[in-house]
Amino acid sequence: MTHNILVLGAGQLARMMALEALPLNLNVRAFDVRSNQVVNPLATGQTFGDLHAGIEFADVITAEFEHISDDVLKVCQASGKLKPTSTAIKTGGDRRIEKAALEQCGVANAKHHIVQTQQDFEDAIAKLSLPIIFKSALDGYDGKGQWRLKSMDNAQAIWAEMAEFIATGNDRNQGIVAEQMVPFDREVSLIGVRTAKGETLIYPLTENHHSNGILSLSIAQQPQPKLAAQAKDIFDKLADTLEYVGVLAVELFQVGDHLLVNEIAPRVHNSGHWTQQGADTSQFNNHIRAVAGLALGDTNLTRPTAMINIIGTDDVDPAILQIAGVHIHWYGKEARPGRKMGHINVCSDRFETLPAKLKQVASMLSDSDFADVKALISAL
Ligand code: AMP
Repeated sequence: MTHNILVLGAGQLARMMALEALPLNLNVRAFDVRSNQVVNPLATGQTFGDLHAGIEFADVITAEFEHISDDVLKVCQASGKLKPTSTAIKTGGDRRIEKAALEQCGVANAKHHIVQTQQDFEDAIAKLSLPIIFKSALDGYDGKGQWRLKSMDNAQAIWAEMAEFIATGNDRNQGIVAEQMVPFDREVSLIGVRTAKGETLIYPLTENHHSNGILSLSIAQQPQPKLAAQAKDIFDKLADTLEYVGVLAVELFQVGDHLLVNEIAPRVHNSGHWTQQGADTSQFNNHIRAVAGLALGDTNLTRPTAMINIIGTDDVDPAILQIAGVHIHWYGKEARPGRKMGHINVCSDRFETLPAKLKQVASMLSDSDFADVKALISAL
């Protein structure tokens, strides 16, 4: 029987897992990779010793993010308690490994080329057509460490910057993945869950909008059979190949009726936060169920729901709670520019009325802190 779960990472995702674990009679502690301390994810000032103490405490170890050092992953994997495996976690932490996994699984993704040297850079330009997006292999998240080559005029300048970037991260085996720019119609994500026995379930696709590279607005989509079948196929291929246990998120480009994988995140995901109010069982609850060996909960959408990220501010008018179907989730963090502070889930009875409900909420958010998401919502 599982009673104690250790989460690698002590941010808001660990916190939301802990909140869902409590009513299941499961106890979650989190390993803060910056302080090397095991903490209470609901009160991070409360500490419980180092990683070894955390491993000792845990029946199961899981992760809330993929940029975890090899040393930490190694001891956790060796304990036999880590779900998903270190291999699966690393697939999300290095774009080169991720691309190899996508090819191995035979799922559609953008044409690409790995770049370590100037010759690779030239080969990438010869193989792919402009525009090309170059992405750092390691530490790439929220659009950081990216270069876009739209005309050959900038090629040498971009290569000079990337060469320095690779050299600076040489001790960590930094590199670049060059990718064909995809003329997508929209960006969507797929959140799914797999048990150790291989049972899989997916949530309805979510449409995502970013500002300054950070997720700003997610809208759960009315299930469309053709896209849902593709999504299930992609999820099953990836999750089965990685022998995955828990929630796995897949970011996708939709081009016409086709889905192409952009990247995977071996964890619960910001674009799945709507499931807290819009699905029978949230992504956090299902992740905890899967890693603890419990039966999965239903992933169907129960009501149309969207999520607005609260970024860089702790100033939201609590009066938005007067609007029916609106829920605020704060992460208990100190405000800093660009920092994810919380999110607002907005639910409606019908898909047709969700934009009006979002506009009502947006009208109560400040222009200074929410300019980008307000512009996105007004265009719905
Ligand atoms: P990523 O960090 O890979 O999610 O990239 C950040 C953002 O850049 C994505 O959300 C897309 O808007 C854009 N992007 C990334 N890769 C591509 C691509 N191959 N084609 C077009 N846009 C892309």
